Amino acid sequence: MDKYDLIVVGMGPSSIFLAYELIQKKKAKNVLLIEEGKPVEKRYCPVEKKGECMKCKPFCNITSGFSGAGAFSDGKLSLYNKEDEDIYVGGNLHKYIGVEKTKELIDYADNVYLKFGADKHLEGTEYKEEVYKLKKKAKKEDIDLIGIPIRHLGTEKSHEIYKKIQDYLEENNVEMMYETVVEDLLIENGKITGVKIHKANNKEEKEKLLAKKVVLAVGRKGADWLSKMCEKYKIKTEPGEVDIGVRYELKDEVMKDVNKYLYEGKFIGRPYPFRDKVRTFCQNPSGFVSEEVYDDGLSLVNGHSYKDKKSTNTNLAILVSHNFKDPFNKPIEYGKNVAKNLNELGNGSVLVQRLGDIRRGKRTWQEELENNDVKPTLKSAVPGDITFAIGYRTMTDILRFINAMDKVVEGFADPHNLLYAPEIKFYSNKVFIDKNFETSIKDLYCIGDGGGMTRGLMMASASGIQMARNLIKLEKKEEK
Ligand SMILES: Cc1cc2nc3c(=O)[nH]c(=O)nc-3n(C[C@H](O)[C@H](O)[C@H](O)COP(=O)(O)OP(=O)(O)OC[C@H]3O[C@@H](n4cnc5c(N)ncnc54)[C@H](O)[C@@H]3O)c2cc1C
Repeated sequence: MDKYDLIVVGMGPSSIFLAYELIQKKKAKNVLLIEEGKPVEKRYCPVEKKGECMKCKPFCNITSGFSGAGAFSDGKLSLYNKEDEDIYVGGNLHKYIGVEKTKELIDYADNVYLKFGADKHLEGTEYKEEVYKLKKKAKKEDIDLIGIPIRHLGTEKSHEIYKKIQDYLEENNVEMMYETVVEDLLIENGKITGVKIHKANNKEEKEKLLAKKVVLAVGRKGADWLSKMCEKYKIKTEPGEVDIGVRYELKDEVMKDVNKYLYEGKFIGRPYPFRDKVRTFCQNPSGFVSEEVYDDGLSLVNGHSYKDKKSTNTNLAILVSHNFKDPFNKPIEYGKNVAKNLNELGNGSVLVQRLGDIRRGKRTWQEELENNDVKPTLKSAVPGDITFAIGYRTMTDILRFINAMDKVVEGFADPHNLLYAPEIKFYSNKVFIDKNFETSIKDLYCIGDGGGMTRGLMMASASGIQMARNLIKLEKKEEK
């Protein structure tokens, strides 16, 4: 059996930027990328045509396939402010390699996106004075506002850009195996020796592939699988967290200043009494709320916006971070249970409720939704009562945050605004990695969102570039 120099599990941004960088350094020979989803041009979400989520089998096209969660993402590349001494958005890469190096990698990755056709225009750079005033106003409500430059690819443009990158990897002979699930790792004496795979549509057709090194780049989609691997092989982890919340939809007109000045405002609060971190995330001006399905059939909500096609609503996530320690430390399980209960109330779909109805202690009915000021952009969402299942603590955090935000952005707490649930960001327990991103298993590495290192397109891409450089450095060392 031939042995690969490197196998990378997953083909999200972290993996494909790893491959891109290996090509630049002429080190992409004998490298295999494995992905359970399809090539980018075959990824298609039927919800727009059918009006409801079809729960595509074997995998959801939104979360799986070449470019990972990136292909259908809104494609907001979060950059950084030159004057900032820290990195505030996108995860923890800088905690491993330092702030300056992370900034360099972000510039490098940004240039790659530009080379493959990203829009040259940067959002969030023109209105310094207005942003400063907004920050001050937010601070009075004990809310921090983080404003950074954003490069907006747009959902349809993301597809084009990632297709070009896919072609580029193919032209440079990077081997890519699609519709293939890595079901297990092969580990002997504390060292990785390969992976066990099966075809996505045939679990019986199994095969072992040997490799000198393996990189896990499985994203949030693979977080649950990664957690199981960590448990099975005693791969060292640190307690992780889960972000649970709602997708909030309101009129563009309410958000017009934030949209204009920042495109995406990242507001962070710690409301009483719990003082949990509550933050806005993934803001989509004139965007659309979307649905994504996870392996065990759970329907979660998300959002995106196109470059050309526009709605008259803005949507954004309001997320509460939860940690667990003793005796329960399974954040993914907790999140899945919340999602399951919410889905059951929605007959398998995402729930939607008006803010005013939550305040009045009642569910939302279809007729009320149809006559509501804010028209839902996710037509498949089922009107109901989120408060039955989201948890008192999470709901209290969200409502208090919305009230405080209303003093910063007038109309943020309008009773017609819509809450969709569940919006959940799963991360595996944080995989313990060293400065080369190596796990406690020799020659097994972990990058991107899956292991808890990153939380966005840009940082995931940067982690892949750094992984490639680490591997080259290690190879040189081993050759000596
Ligand atoms: C709708 C939506 C909108 C988003 N919008 C933005 C945005 O505007 N800006 C932003 O910064 N971020 C956004 N994100 C998040 C962003 O897409 C992720 O942070 C990023 O894609 C993470 O990259 P990754 O390489 O770590 O993992 P992913 O992109 O998640 O890729 C992991 C891949 O691994 C595959 N995989 C997992 N397990 C296995 C296995 N066992 N075998 C084979 N394959 C496997 C999965 O199918 C997947 O394709 C959005 C996400 C979604 C879903």
